[in-house]
Amino acid sequence: MKIIESKPDMHEYSLRRRGEGNSVGLVPTMGALHQGHLSLVRKARQECDFLVVSVFVNPTQFGPGEDLEKYPRTFEADRRACEELGVDVLFAPSNDEMYPAGPETYVVQEHLTKVLEGASRPTHFRGVLTVVLKLLNIVVPHAAYFGQKDYQQSVVVRRMAADLDVPVEIRVLPTVREEDGLAMSSRNKYLSPEQRDQAACLYESLRLCGDLFARGERNAQKIKTELQARIDKAPLARIDYVEIVKPNTLQPAETVESGDVALVAVFFGTTRLIDNVILS
Ligand code: AMP
Repeated sequence: MKIIESKPDMHEYSLRRRGEGNSVGLVPTMGALHQGHLSLVRKARQECDFLVVSVFVNPTQFGPGEDLEKYPRTFEADRRACEELGVDVLFAPSNDEMYPAGPETYVVQEHLTKVLEGASRPTHFRGVLTVVLKLLNIVVPHAAYFGQKDYQQSVVVRRMAADLDVPVEIRVLPTVREEDGLAMSSRNKYLSPEQRDQAACLYESLRLCGDLFARGERNAQKIKTELQARIDKAPLARIDYVEIVKPNTLQPAETVESGDVALVAVFFGTTRLIDNVILS
């Protein structure tokens, strides 16, 4: 496996592989790789001739006071995991390489980024979309792989690619969970044992929501009330939002239909966890 740190080297590598008639896949990550990330890597490995995994803790998607400084960095373990899974290139640029003149130009999306995560983290998605577009321009993959765990991210990235005519297929893969249902996340490491125990309430509440829908409940407000009550049973949980939305517009649902998405964001202390399920 090659480790590439320079943008021109990465670009040239991909263009060469493409020129030889190969498909190129990209899995963008911020490192601290866990089984959630690795499920994307495995799928991409099956589907693409050449596979690039990027590891870059992108400063522009962290707001002031968020966890940029303490975000886990485990490069050696990430390198080993990628090597074991047959990744061809680990693209690991520095901040200076990615933003040599500092960030000045951003990709801004009008509406989809203002709700849910965007309401709580107003500058988050312009940072995400900017870095994703940069990575797509550098790596020029045929396909890029994202997790449903960050549902809104997958929607806004897809929309950006469509709106800006980026010639890439955006693939979105299911959330990988711990045994008790907690969605795997690099941020789970911040939880105390007690918080970790109670964090199972996110998925339990979403499953409850799925059960209510399966039993015929279609009133979004009623479902959200039950969902909220389930999370409130965990004394250390503080709800940021609980919402049921339409899949592509992210507009709140009043009457729930199959394909709508239930999403939660919950604080445990200063750690903010998100999760979602698609109702069907
Ligand atoms: P991150 O390193 O947190 O930026 O995540 C990189 C990619 O991995 C994103 O597309 C995430 O949605 C995806 N991802 C993170 N956690 C999971 C998980 N538990 N299951 C599936 N995909 C995930």
